[in-house]
Amino acid sequence: MSVEALPAQDEIFRVSHLSELLESYLEPEQVRQVYRAYLFGAEAHEGQQRMSGEPYITHPLAVAKILADMRMDYEGIIAAILHDVIEDTPTAKEHIEREFSKEVAELVDGVSKITQMDFASKAEAQAENFRKMMLAMVKDIRVIMIKLADRLHNMRTLGVMRPDKRRRIAHETLDIYAPIATRLGMNKVRLELEDLGLASLYPQRYRVLKEAVIKARGNRKEILNKIETAIQSRLCQENLNGEVIGREKHLYSIYTKMVDKRLSFREVFDMYAFRIVVETVDQCYRVLGVMHSLYKPVPGKFKDYIAIPKANGYQSLHTVLFGPYGVPIEIQIRTSDMDEVAESGVAAHWLYKTGDDHSPSNTRAREWLRNLLELQKNAGNSLEFIENVKIDLFPDEVYVFTPVGEIMELPRGASVVDFAYAVHSDIGNTCVAARVDRRLVPLRTQLYNGQTVEVITASGANPNPSWLSFVVTAKARTNIRHYLKQLQREDAIELGKRMLDKALVGLGSSLTQVNAEQMDELLEISHLQGQESLFEDIGLGGRLAMLVARQLVISDGDAETQSQPLVIKGTEGMVVSFAKCCHPIPGDSIVGFVSAGRGIVVHTQSCNNIADFRKLPEKWIDVEWSADVEGDFVAEIRVDVANQRGVLATLAAIISDMGSNIENVDIEERDGMTNSINFTLTVNSRDHLAKIIRRAKGVANVMRISRKKN
Ligand code: MN
Repeated sequence: MSVEALPAQDEIFRVSHLSELLESYLEPEQVRQVYRAYLFGAEAHEGQQRMSGEPYITHPLAVAKILADMRMDYEGIIAAILHDVIEDTPTAKEHIEREFSKEVAELVDGVSKITQMDFASKAEAQAENFRKMMLAMVKDIRVIMIKLADRLHNMRTLGVMRPDKRRRIAHETLDIYAPIATRLGMNKVRLELEDLGLASLYPQRYRVLKEAVIKARGNRKEILNKIETAIQSRLCQENLNGEVIGREKHLYSIYTKMVDKRLSFREVFDMYAFRIVVETVDQCYRVLGVMHSLYKPVPGKFKDYIAIPKANGYQSLHTVLFGPYGVPIEIQIRTSDMDEVAESGVAAHWLYKTGDDHSPSNTRAREWLRNLLELQKNAGNSLEFIENVKIDLFPDEVYVFTPVGEIMELPRGASVVDFAYAVHSDIGNTCVAARVDRRLVPLRTQLYNGQTVEVITASGANPNPSWLSFVVTAKARTNIRHYLKQLQREDAIELGKRMLDKALVGLGSSLTQVNAEQMDELLEISHLQGQESLFEDIGLGGRLAMLVARQLVISDGDAETQSQPLVIKGTEGMVVSFAKCCHPIPGDSIVGFVSAGRGIVVHTQSCNNIADFRKLPEKWIDVEWSADVEGDFVAEIRVDVANQRGVLATLAAIISDMGSNIENVDIEERDGMTNSINFTLTVNSRDHLAKIIRRAKGVANVMRISRKKN
């Protein structure tokens, strides 16, 4: 494409007055880049038209102009000109990156992503979350500024749209974009968005209000002048040079005050507001004193936003006075720097970043930036500042969509499981996987802003204890813990019942033969709610099966107790555990130790630790392996090998080939020539372990293998 090929387009660019504006603060080379962007954009949008019939490129140019008024840097301006190119034309992000820069491409991409977020389909009540999500999504605050400028121009040209579409866009503007402008302190943009929004949403009310304001202005004028003169002359007397500006509330704020506070138009409008702009902070406080002596202040209305600025950086003193004839007067007092920030907010920052270093506005902006950074106790560069603004606004949340477009707020780091529990505990309890943006992902997947998450559940699926290692929400944690506790209770009841039955059989009775009255009596003196509680208590080791059995069976004397060992099947669940000191596996001779609250801990007969428990014979329980024991059991082996490459890999391959899982490997260097490799692995029996050891012995460079026991 050549410039000559597009004479009409070139005309448009010149007519847009953009270049004049840019030349006032950008380098000539940067302006040339912007012009190149214009040619690129014009070609991409070639043939497209706005609703008004104008060539489409007039819109991005107007957006760029709004931003140039804020002294946006040249990359931001380029991105503004190209802001609809990815969305509305076949041009890809990569193409923009090649043509301009990665930064520009990222900016355009960011704006497109926001444009794609379809607010219309989401509930209105979600507006606040939607705003937060939008802000949290962008990495660069310029993306939001471009989007706001885009919206501003669309609002200015909304007249050509169909009424229903106009209302929808107006709604979105008032719900989403105007508040974002407020958050960023971009007051001028905000006021215009609000008034345009009101005009489109309620054209009738807007007209009535506007006429009322025009009519009321006449009556006001006299009082307004009178107060202004009084303030001016008082400041003069005190030798304070301040600019006094009479303010009129904009229509939207009059409207919302009337609606929210149920006030009449008079009550809202008959408020006189002035702004006094001075040079130094010191003067601000002196002016305040002077004002309070001129008219009496209304108690409780004074606010010092200089000492404690608002989150968006706004600084000013606010006070309300009793004026002549009893009319209330609102006064804002601030320095000219603060005034600039109050008007442009975050955008005031660009004054600092671009253009001539020595211009007075630049120095002021720099001063402001320094002050703000100090206030936030943050030293650093301008990028860090922008990051801070964002982090301050929305520190620790991510916002994601449900498949029906509802927005869920989750803490940063939240996983699919957290999301599932946030939707409903039943969904959390039965989730097995999820689709994030239509891609299948595992449950531990961390979620990011703007993703759409669909949880896949399976009936019969259960929470997994390992989830506790990655969930971050209290709701998920509580539900998983609750489930595990429930599970433990069921296991304990089952085991306790078996233990008690065994003990009773040893006494020549059994659970089915126990007399109901005796059972009730026992439950009563033990303050237990029912048999299940008794079983649970036994299963968890809270009371001993043999003692309970004795209480239940009234025997005439000391019938020799023939206790039967309890059979371990490997399926007892959480109430039977295997000691970590000796790692018993099926085939080992074992003993059980009843430990309060944990049920039975199984040790090997040869375990060194059991000597310590000898003194507590009543805690011991005879156990033996069931013939059809199930499950995987942990064992440890130590392999001494010559220090040669590849031994570890060979051993690992053999172990897994033998149907065992390696849970841990740790290597001790012995003397430089030999190493000891400790494997923690799973086996299903002594036999299984023996086979593994035999195979491993055949490996070259393996010198010695032994099962580890403490
Ligand atoms: Mn646009």
